[in-house]
Formats: sequence, structure tokens, C-alpha cells
Amino acid sequence: MPPADAVIASATAPLIPTAPLIPTALSGAVCGWGGGPRVPVTLMRPASVDALRGAISGRAGQGAIARGMGRSYGDAAQLRGGLVLDATGLRAFELDAERGALTAQAGVTLGELLGALAPSGWVLPVVPGTQHVTVGGAIASDVHGKNHSSVGTFGAHVLALGLLTASGEVQELTPGRDGELLAATIGGMGLTGVILWARIKLRPLRSASLSVDSDRFERLDDAFAALDRPGGSHRVAWLDLLSRRPVRGVVTRAEQLSRDPSTTDCARAQTTVAARMTIPARWPGGLLRTSIVRAYNEFRFRRSPRRETGRVEAFGPHIFPLDALDGWPRLYGRRGFVQYQPVVPRGQERTLEELIIRLRRLRVPCYLATLKDLGPQSDAPLSFPLAGWTITLDLPRAAPGLEALLRGFDELVAGAGGRVYLAKDGRLRPDTLAAMYPRLEQWRAVRDRVDPERRWRSDLGLRTGLVTAER
Ligand SMILES: Cc1cc2nc3c(=O)[nH]c(=O)nc-3n(C[C@H](O)[C@H](O)[C@H](O)COP(=O)(O)OP(=O)(O)OC[C@H]3O[C@@H](n4cnc5c(N)ncnc54)[C@H](O)[C@@H]3O)c2cc1C
Repeated sequence: MPPADAVIASATAPLIPTAPLIPTALSGAVCGWGGGPRVPVTLMRPASVDALRGAISGRAGQGAIARGMGRSYGDAAQLRGGLVLDATGLRAFELDAERGALTAQAGVTLGELLGALAPSGWVLPVVPGTQHVTVGGAIASDVHGKNHSSVGTFGAHVLALGLLTASGEVQELTPGRDGELLAATIGGMGLTGVILWARIKLRPLRSASLSVDSDRFERLDDAFAALDRPGGSHRVAWLDLLSRRPVRGVVTRAEQLSRDPSTTDCARAQTTVAARMTIPARWPGGLLRTSIVRAYNEFRFRRSPRRETGRVEAFGPHIFPLDALDGWPRLYGRRGFVQYQPVVPRGQERTLEELIIRLRRLRVPCYLATLKDLGPQSDAPLSFPLAGWTITLDLPRAAPGLEALLRGFDELVAGAGGRVYLAKDGRLRPDTLAAMYPRLEQWRAVRDRVDPERRWRSDLGLRTGLVTAER
């Protein structure tokens, strides 16, 4: 690991690994954030890099996959009957304040990093809609934020990373040192190896407050137009798809203030959010009803001003609103939910409109929907974003006709030159995946070079044909 100037935290494990310790293998069962079927796995949580190497060294024939906070919605971080390496024990990180760079082990969460970096006046350039994801998970899914059009994905800010490959070697990857493997690992869903650490370029935190402009809209076309208006690098639209009227909602465009009016002290900056409520584990199913969410949406829409500029909001609560409610997927009951997230290129707005029309025609309730604009795609062959529009649709898994509906959606999206986000997926088939990710063969060639025996596998990888069980 490259040296760094100032150690700001070393949560549990020192950066220089201590004596190897083989972690205990536990039988367990895991599932995705959307609460799909729980699958039996052998679970290991190594607390150091050496312990991680030890964990895989005696299990040559067994397939394995890394897991972070389990915030991917489908089956990306699991392998039925295989070894799941929980990387959240690798938690050390260092700030190089002079160069504005951070070196972090893979299991530390972005929320922990945001909280620790703020007093030094630095912030992560890209964060997804939850703070509870690990560095490893953010790189493996190449996550994007609401500011994708201006700063790209998380992977675009990775200067170097350490990868534990199938041979047991640790390789340090940079754009100049096996840049192909680096690109295949960014967005590679853990299928090139276990990310151990990464060096990430940071951005100065001018203030932890955002200046927020918002526009209420009553037609989808107005949402596209409002998202395209200049100003505000963090942009998103909340869509109310349960109203009996045409699609309506609110677009927000937020920009970091140059100076925080309420506090000039970054130490008190609110870059994260604390949960105010927890949905209990024994939450009774069936309480989430269309009528209730429709009434809530009506309230939310009416409460929003038609147009507002310059409202000051703290970064954390604005960027991570769902983190205020711990365990929210439990609202969907035992069967959980599916999040469908496609992206379509600019000019294909009608495709997204058609998805919404079909959803409404079949009366599948969509309890939460958002729309975002995305910027150009990166060099990473499996990275999701492309210049266009992405929508997220949270749908109860128990809704009748859902699978057939989503299969039709896949065809429309692929036909429009779009793709579905693998971090949210639990159902794509090999043919649709190949139609959506045209650089798939380029990715496979690199993967096969570093893992000819197909050691790294996941349920997502096997289901979609990203990897096969045997050569
Ligand atoms: C409320 C919410 C909002 C979200 N908003 C966004 C958003 O705005 N933008 C966005 O892009 N995503 C978003 N996501 C998805 C989330 O950012 C990704 O699924 C992310 O990968 C989850 O990180 P994790 O640590 O939980 O990883 P996991 O879910 O545990 O794993 C995800 C993938 O990363 C791999 N992986 C994990 N750790 C490692 C490692 N150390 N080495 C190699 N591979 C590893 C796993 O094998 C798996 O393939 C959101 C998720 C939630 C729950």
C-alpha cells in the first residue's frame, strides 16, 4: 500500500497486516437489499489482508465472491453454496491532505469516510444514494451519484487499487500498470478478484451545505427540461407514479455553497445522516398499500413550492434521504421488492415514458421512482452509466405479472440502446445482458486471463453468463 502522510483513522486493523489469522467459516444465508430468496453460503469475515488470503488459500476448488454492506438489490454479492468473503473487516484508511487523496481499505463505508474527512475540508467526489456502501462495493459497481454529468463515476477517481487475484497474488493496479484489469475491476461486480484497498482522489469540501433549486412538474417532458436547466450539479427528479393524473413530481438541482452561512467550521459539517427511525425486524407485511403511498405522494407534491431557488440544505440529509429510515425494505413485507433501473440514451425519452405507461396499465404499484440525467460512459466495459436518462422503479416483488412486464421492459431498453444496472439486478438473462453491454467480450477476455479457473463467481455472474461455473 502506498505511504500516506497523515493517519486520520485506523478503525480496527492496522494498515500493515499483523500475524495471519484464518477467520472462522460460518454457515449462513444471505440475500440482496431487495430481499430476494436467501441462499445458503459459507461466510467468512477476515479482519486483515493476510487473513483474507488465508481464507481462500485452503479452498482452491470452491467458488468465492466478495461482499460489502449488501446494498446491491439483487444477487451480486452472494454465491449459493459458495464462499462469501465479507470484506467489512478491512477498515483502515489514511488521508494524504497535501495531495487531496485518500487510501482506504475496501470494507470501510463511504459514510464513515465522509464523516472523518469533513473536518480536514475534503469530500468524496462521488457518492450514491446511500452512505452505507463500502469502498469495495462502490468500485465493483462503479457507482454514480446525482452529479454524474459533471464528475463521472466513483471509478473515475480511483488512482490505484490493490486486487487479490485468483492466484492468491496481490496486484497493485493503476491506469499505467495493467490498466485493462483496473478497468475490468471497476464495475466488474467482484468477478476479477477481491479489492483490498484503493487510492481515491478527493475534492475540497467548500461547505457541507447545498443551495437547492426545485421545480414542481406535471408532465414528464417538463422533468427532462428541468433536469437540463443550467446550475446545480446534484440533480434528481422524484416522480409520483401513483397519482391518477399524468406523471408529476419535483426536480431538485443542488450545488455546494462556496461558504457555509450557518457554520464556517467543516468539523461540524453534516455530510452524513443519522437514522431517525428503524423499521422493526418483525414488521407485519401488507401495511404498504397503494392508497397510503398515494396519499403521502399527494401531500409531498402539494407541500413542494412550484418553483424555489436557493433553499439551504445540509449535504447528508439531501443526498441520503432514505438513510434516515433504517431497515426500510422491511416495509415491503416478506417477499421484498425489485428495483428496476435502466438507462437509455438521450433522444430515447419516449422509451422511459412507455415503461411508465405499461406499468400503469398493468396496475403494478411503483412506491418510489426517480429520474436522473447521466453523462458519458467511462472506459470500464461493464460500467452502467451512458449519456442519457436513468429511472429507478421500486416495485413489490409480489405484484402479479411483474416478471413478464420486466422482460418486456428489458427488450424495450435494449432496443433503445440502453442497459439495466447490474447492482440493482436479480433477473437479467445472458442474451439480454449481451445485448445491453456491447463491451462484454472485452471484459471477459481480461477476466479469463486473470481467473482461468473461474474462482470468482456470484449468483449474478452465473445467472447472466458473465462467468460460467467451469471452463
Ligand atoms: C438506498 C440505496 C440507494 C442507492 N443509490 C445508488 C445510486 O445513487 N447510485 C449507484 O450507483 N448505486 C446506488 N445504490 C447501489 C449501491 O451503491 C451499490 O449496490 C453498491 O455496490 C453497494 O455497495 P456494498 O458495499 O453494499 O456492496 P455489496 O452490495 O455487498 O456488493 C456489491 C458488488 O460489489 C462486489 N464487492 C463488494 N466488496 C468487494 C470487494 N472488496 N472486492 C471486490 N468486489 C466487491 C460484490 O461482489 C458485488 O458484486 C443504492 C443502494 C441503496 C440501498
